[in-house]
Amino acid sequence: MVIAIADIEKKNEVGILIVVEGIDGSGKSTQIHLVDRWLRSKGYDVFFTEWNSSETVREITSKGKKKARLTPMTFSLLHSTDFADRYEKNIYPLLRAGYIVLADRYIYTALARDTVRGCDKSWVKNMYKYARKPDLTFYFRVPIETAVNRIISGRPKLKHYEAGMDLGLSKDEYESYRIFQGRIVDEYESMINDDNFVVIDGTLEIEKQQDMVRRNVLKVLKMKNKLHEKTS
Ligand code: ADP
Repeated sequence: MVIAIADIEKKNEVGILIVVEGIDGSGKSTQIHLVDRWLRSKGYDVFFTEWNSSETVREITSKGKKKARLTPMTFSLLHSTDFADRYEKNIYPLLRAGYIVLADRYIYTALARDTVRGCDKSWVKNMYKYARKPDLTFYFRVPIETAVNRIISGRPKLKHYEAGMDLGLSKDEYESYRIFQGRIVDEYESMINDDNFVVIDGTLEIEKQQDMVRRNVLKVLKMKNKLHEKTS
């Protein structure tokens, strides 16, 4: 299916798009999985999609990453291809079919990471121009040290691009990772107002965050006349 520009411009999808963003270890996957289970248990049609998960692109991305052969531009293009594949095959048709689409990372991840890698922000933005604006974007804000400790405690080794080693920030991968994540946080913080992020304090207990998240989801469901009686 090729998405017709006219369709995109009409923004006539009837579903709801909910996105979580934040640095690694900010707790966003934990929260979106809880939302997923909650909404499904209430009878909603839900589709979950996560960053960098397209079957079509996986092999080449993984090969390029393993051999550390990607430049900021090819890194960016591969991820945007991955996104386009998931957008055309799943996100867009399911939104049109009225689903609630939950996305663990969306275009803001590319904007933050690719910009930090030195790609021109408007060039990156332009690549994702066709993507629908989310109805709700949660941004999980955590101090770098909190996030880094959560990630490192379960993982003795970081991957080359994950640690931002391609940027030459430090020879030490943990130091590089900290600097890289710090720069990504600055990018996210600069998007909060323009992109209407709902900021969640990612240092709070999981249940507390989930309460806030659900309250915001309920508001959007109500606004879109999608609230099942038994949900509230
Ligand atoms: P992300 O998707 O942002 O990388 P995850 O949800 O995978 O983050 O969480 C990373 C780690 O932190 C996991 O081990 C998870 O159990 C833990 N975690 C998530 N939320 C919290 C929290 N509020 N407090 C403490 N630990 C948390």
